[in-house]
Amino acid sequence: MRQRVLVKFSGEALAGDGEYGIDTKTLHYIAGEIKELVDNNIEVGIVIGGGNIVRGVSAAADGVIKRTSADYMGMLATVINGVAMQEALEHIGISSRLQSAIKMEQIAESFIVKRARRHLEKGRVVIFSAGTGNPFFTTDTAATLRATEIEASMLIKATKVDGVYDKDPNKFKDAKKLETLNYDMALQDNIKVMDDTAIALAKDNKLPIVVMNMFEEGNLLKIIKNKDYSKCSIVK
Ligand code: UDP
Repeated sequence: MRQRVLVKFSGEALAGDGEYGIDTKTLHYIAGEIKELVDNNIEVGIVIGGGNIVRGVSAAADGVIKRTSADYMGMLATVINGVAMQEALEHIGISSRLQSAIKMEQIAESFIVKRARRHLEKGRVVIFSAGTGNPFFTTDTAATLRATEIEASMLIKATKVDGVYDKDPNKFKDAKKLETLNYDMALQDNIKVMDDTAIALAKDNKLPIVVMNMFEEGNLLKIIKNKDYSKCSIVK
């Protein structure tokens, strides 16, 4: 049986050097890294955040926009990123499908797990957009949920850092990288892997989470195919 993984990118990862918007060069680079997986017979699901466009908490901060509406705006942002990612994949010849947790039939298929599995079996990359479809959740939780639903062997959190630290490595020189953590460690306040809902769901379903640097070329394939965990952290 082929290996199946779910890769989660934050919206910010798509913004390149900036914090906002979509940088097509970065998008093209990410698509290339995904292609390496597909070319190596690995089935790939993708969840992308929306933080480069709208984050619910920030949009609702001054009270003008209600949190629920702000969160729907955030979910729509993930669909925008999903459309862009699908284009970048198709641009380099990767067959893909975009599914959405919110009905949007002109743009994306509705999320149907059995259909998603079928696409994966046929070697298509499936992009899961619109998060969980519910306000008050994050795309990290959506990624954990989708990874569990499609029975992925691991969830890869692709970031700009090479793993999980005991404190913020940008602020503290003595921050230590934690190579292997258990779920309870990941739930501690100082450890920022993912939000508690996402970690709890991963724990319940024994889904391993790998945190890795997306911007080191070839890293994604090395981790998944060669099980080389030297340049990442793993929660299991
Ligand atoms: N969101 C939501 N429900 C979900 C997933 C996402 O309401 O299931 C909203 C939420 O407002 C969030 C925004 O979509 O702030 C963008 O997602 P996220 O912040 O997780 O993106 P990332 O930080 O990964 O770019």
